[in-house]
Amino acid sequence: VATAAAPSDDSMALHFIDVGQGSATLLEFPCGAILIDTGGEKNELFDSETALLGYLNRFFERRQDLGRTLDALVITHPHIDHTRSIPAVLRQFKVRNIVDNGDVRADLGGKPQLFMHEWLFEKNRTIEKHNRKVSRKKHRRARQSQRRSPIGHLDVSSTDIGPEGLLSPVVDAIAACPRSEIDPQIRVLWGSRLGREEKGHNPNNDSVVLRVDYGKSSALLSGDLELLAIAWMTKHYAEHPELLDTDLYYVPHHGSRNSTSEHWVDLVSPKLAVISMGPYGRKLGTHPEFSARAFGHPNRDSVNQLIEGEGARDMLSRSEPIDAQIGIKGAWKERESQFEQRSIEKAVYATGWDGHVVVRAHPDGTYTVQTSDQNRVAQKP
Ligand SMILES: [Zn+2]
Repeated sequence: VATAAAPSDDSMALHFIDVGQGSATLLEFPCGAILIDTGGEKNELFDSETALLGYLNRFFERRQDLGRTLDALVITHPHIDHTRSIPAVLRQFKVRNIVDNGDVRADLGGKPQLFMHEWLFEKNRTIEKHNRKVSRKKHRRARQSQRRSPIGHLDVSSTDIGPEGLLSPVVDAIAACPRSEIDPQIRVLWGSRLGREEKGHNPNNDSVVLRVDYGKSSALLSGDLELLAIAWMTKHYAEHPELLDTDLYYVPHHGSRNSTSEHWVDLVSPKLAVISMGPYGRKLGTHPEFSARAFGHPNRDSVNQLIEGEGARDMLSRSEPIDAQIGIKGAWKERESQFEQRSIEKAVYATGWDGHVVVRAHPDGTYTVQTSDQNRVAQKP
């Protein structure tokens, strides 16, 4: 998948990697790469870590020029379907900057994030030690050339975010280069509201949300936001609603029912939408089970807003319709989930339907989409 483009292509590619029920998105630029989340499902039928590392290895094989370096690793929030492979990614690839929402918790999803914070501390201590040693060298040129940059860190709290979002070189870690004159703009639109725990804290609403602009193309990467944070964000950007208006919409929270409202989709008015969730056909036979099937993802109400709601007015079409399984009811509380099969013609893609989804965003605001595994959804388990 997505091996066609040469590194010299002047475009940004968003790789929505199929990690089963979870999320991992690789942003590829002519001059760098950013990974958002290290998700995924892990059970006897599927191991997202193998899938993610395999994908990243193939990617860096193709993009030798990037030297296995991620300019930033962004973790939207510490849930295991987003944090699972943090240690593996930090061990296997070079990471220049870390962005997270500052949440500290020692539960299943929080542990990999704690590992990341410890890694950051140790790494920067080693770099500092090295730099102190170098600074004692006699020759100025030697001193300068041997210095190492510390790993950048940004833990985003919503209180740091102004009416036009948050701009920081730690997240906007990629500049123009000889391959492309375009300087990608990456800004943070949302982060944690920690300290509200006492009111029934839901970590999904603390997701780090990014907006990425590449020339005239734009994407909104919205983590696992739910309706509460969507309402907060709508209010926060009341004076700058254009910041929410983007072409490529990463549908939050795996396309769950409580993660998208008609008004919100209307504000975003996307041309394409991507949902990251597991395939309908993977049935684990445990109860409860952590799968798209059990959660009823993606939910019919969310999908409807993307194909026939007010906000769907600018939606493009898929090159070919796909027969998709759409959740009516998850089995989280009830025993059986309910799905319906439907032909999707609009440009709504989903990792559970399409496998890996790669959207290439061109500077003139046009998009091309490649998927790895069409037509697998229609199969009944
Ligand atoms: Zn999630």
